[in-house]
Amino acid sequence: TRVLGIESSCDETGLALYDIQKGLLGEVLFSQIALHAPYGGVVPELASRDHVRRLPLLLEELMAQSGGQRPDAVAVTAGPGLIGALLVGVNFARALAYAWDIPVIPVHHLEGHLLAPLLNGVAPFPAVALLVSGGHTMLIEVRGLGDYVLLGETLDDAAGEAFDKAAKMLGLGYPGGPALAALAEGGDPEAFRLPRPLLDRPGMDFSFSGLKTAFRLVSLKVPEEDSVQRSHLAASFQQAVVDTLFRKCQRALQATGLKRLIVAGGVGANRALRDALQSLTADGVELCIADLAHCTDNAAMIALAGALHPEMAQPASAEFPVRARWSLVKEET
Ligand code: ATP
Ligand code: MG
Ligand code: FE
Repeated sequence: TRVLGIESSCDETGLALYDIQKGLLGEVLFSQIALHAPYGGVVPELASRDHVRRLPLLLEELMAQSGGQRPDAVAVTAGPGLIGALLVGVNFARALAYAWDIPVIPVHHLEGHLLAPLLNGVAPFPAVALLVSGGHTMLIEVRGLGDYVLLGETLDDAAGEAFDKAAKMLGLGYPGGPALAALAEGGDPEAFRLPRPLLDRPGMDFSFSGLKTAFRLVSLKVPEEDSVQRSHLAASFQQAVVDTLFRKCQRALQATGLKRLIVAGGVGANRALRDALQSLTADGVELCIADLAHCTDNAAMIALAGALHPEMAQPASAEFPVRARWSLVKEET
């Protein structure tokens, strides 16, 4: 089975072709970063319009890249995300499904992130999953495909959002995560004392707004031209986030008795986090992280998630909801 994946939930337009037997046959991705950069964040209306422009061009590119092979189904992100952006992708998917007489598979964007490590061929269940993206921060017990139980989540900002906001305070561009990580390179992570929110309390929830405030206060004292101090500051912030995520992962592994950790979402591309989590392997934990390009938004993970959910296939004529908000997990243990 070959599945065409379509991703357009935010500011990345992606298409990919995934074959259950052969793996990824091709993928294309267009980032709208330059389009939104002048506004310091994603402008929903601009995002939708650009998805409309890019999708047909990207499809041609993908077809050329993968030898023009027709898919057997088309999987598309149906939520959560920007409603207009989602609608563009879903309508494009439906049009293709009509034209090619193939079914549509609606995919949960976060399940796509969660399953992305599978692109490298490992079967990661059961496992604890740390989902750290621009809009979400969750610890999940993955009991099996589609069986996700919430262990903890952020009470305020998401980890990626915290990176982006801290970067903004330092005058780094949008999106700030990678820029802040680059600035942190070579900085002293212990130069500034920043809080590790909620570590002093039991449980697996996260909070990043206190850290953000502490960071703001400290950053005001660092002159803009002091590049060494700025680097220390970025490193100290990154370390505070990494420490927090690391310790909560340890707790989740302990609480569940599981020995496998999936790390998914854009912050999973962070080098310091990847290095820190690597140390868990010394305790016999198997680490499943997607490669860098598949941590952030992409269509390969959507095609893969669709391929793993054939039972969700619907005829092109069927209506299914597009959801700005959509929970992935059950809240029980
Ligand atoms: P969601 O998936 O929750 O809807 P999203 O799709 O916007 O949100 P992702 O594409 O998974 O999120 O990840 C983007 C986030 O990851 C941004 O906040 C970005 O700053 C952050 N990010 C990406 N690379 C890095 C990095 N190297 N270090 C830290 N943060 C990073
Ligand atoms: Mg994005
Ligand atoms: Fe995402």
